Amino acid sequence: MQEELSILIQAQYPLIYLVTSEEERAERAIAAIAQTKANQRRVFLWTVTHGIIEYGQSRQITQHNTVSPEAAIQWVIQQKEPGIYIFKDLHPFIDAPATTRWLRDAIASFKDAQKAIILMSPVQIVPIELEKEVVVLDFLLPDMAELNQVLSQQLEQTKSRRTSTETREKLLRAALGLTKDEAEKVYRKAHVKVGRLTEAEVEIVLSEKKQLIRRNGILEYIEEDETIDSIGGLDELKRWLRQRSNAFTERAREYGLPQPKGMLILGVPGCGKSLIAKTTSRLWGLPLLRLDMGRVYDGSMVGRSEANLRNALKTAESISPAILFIDELDKSFAGSSGSADSDGGTSSRIFGSFLTWMQEKTSPVFVMATANRVERLPGEFLRKGRFDEIFFVDLPTPEERQQIFNIHLSKRRREIGRFDLEQLATVSDGFSGAEIEQAIIAAMYEAFAQDREFTQLDIIASIKSTLPLSRTMTEQVTALRDWARQRARPAAASVAEYQRMEF
Ligand code: ATP
Repeated sequence: MQEELSILIQAQYPLIYLVTSEEERAERAIAAIAQTKANQRRVFLWTVTHGIIEYGQSRQITQHNTVSPEAAIQWVIQQKEPGIYIFKDLHPFIDAPATTRWLRDAIASFKDAQKAIILMSPVQIVPIELEKEVVVLDFLLPDMAELNQVLSQQLEQTKSRRTSTETREKLLRAALGLTKDEAEKVYRKAHVKVGRLTEAEVEIVLSEKKQLIRRNGILEYIEEDETIDSIGGLDELKRWLRQRSNAFTERAREYGLPQPKGMLILGVPGCGKSLIAKTTSRLWGLPLLRLDMGRVYDGSMVGRSEANLRNALKTAESISPAILFIDELDKSFAGSSGSADSDGGTSSRIFGSFLTWMQEKTSPVFVMATANRVERLPGEFLRKGRFDEIFFVDLPTPEERQQIFNIHLSKRRREIGRFDLEQLATVSDGFSGAEIEQAIIAAMYEAFAQDREFTQLDIIASIKSTLPLSRTMTEQVTALRDWARQRARPAAASVAEYQRMEF
């Protein structure tokens, strides 16, 4: 990123928008670029509180009052020497007609002048008049090398003993996704708590990171104790996932395999879609981040929703290899097609940004998305090549239902031999995995209230008193099935099996 910025400055791009919340780190990077031979220039900073000051100085540069954005831009235009002018948080003012106009005037006046304005802000707001003139860059979070510097400094300051390369690498990896300030704080806290660089420190750094990620409210770190074996049936899908267990390793790259991009799991509600996503994280040994699309939308300020999405995706990338889990994709992007949205086009723009990111991402972030309603899903998601695979999770077959009963009874420490699984599978025709689990729980409550152990008959009674979703939503389920039969890969082992099923 720093290299890209340096090239833009050298190539005399007049207006650069740098999206970051790490002002100090970004300023330092720009100052370093300005000292290189190719870019010898002075650096100035503007803020609405202090007007223009020279980088490294504390007083306003001129007698003129440059606090107002227009006055500051005019001052920049008047300068004859080469310079880099960083405007911090200009975004609340950028929409004002005079500010936009002065910026355009500045750009026009910069021809061959070796001057560049850098707009630095945590949100990206570009008025339409400037869209063609500005280059937008994301200032990336610190990589392993930069974190290594932070850690070395911390070790020096605390006079810590040398540590093994593995522990050090784990500590660095654990802090990926944090800003430099956050990483410093987290390392310091881990040191205060533990005092030595050990696995215990790594744990602290990781749990601090989880909290910080949680605080931004859009991404959530999910931990799952269940393994993929706690899912009954879906053998084809499980085989596909197991086959890719080592897909994110160096060895896979050397072998010439492409990095998996993502998968879409379509299916009837309650059939284990979310459970698959969660257990895949354990199977692959990768962190699972849930992207809460509902929280991405923020109408408080133009551009805020887009900034939320960019930040969340940036964090996911910096933690990669990782799995990005988007539950109910159909709900997240409902209403994104068509330009006359009720939200002024925000959902269309968010949808567009997300698709572009999926298309262009090079970092190993595997997208696992689930959806119940295919007709609400924008067609672009279903196009070939967008996901590596689209799986359809249908209602369980009789054999799968037996497995699901087996799993949930064993989970509750019951002797399987006491139950006739075949009979249970027969009477629960049309039930989803979630409904089977609920039937067992209801039977347990019934028996518990009567102070006795539950039996086969209790489960059958609770099944009989339940109307499964497949009966209450027959049309919806049939429509999904019909669609998926042609276009998605069945998650169950036997295609013929689910095609035979009717209800
Ligand atoms: P929704 O679309 O309603 O979010 P879903 O398809 O994502 O549903 P899950 O939330 O994964 O379904 O399933 C709910 C619970 O039902 C699971 O946590 C699990 O306990 C149980 N369950 C569902 N399917 C299975 C299965 N195939 N094997 C074992 N348990 C299952």
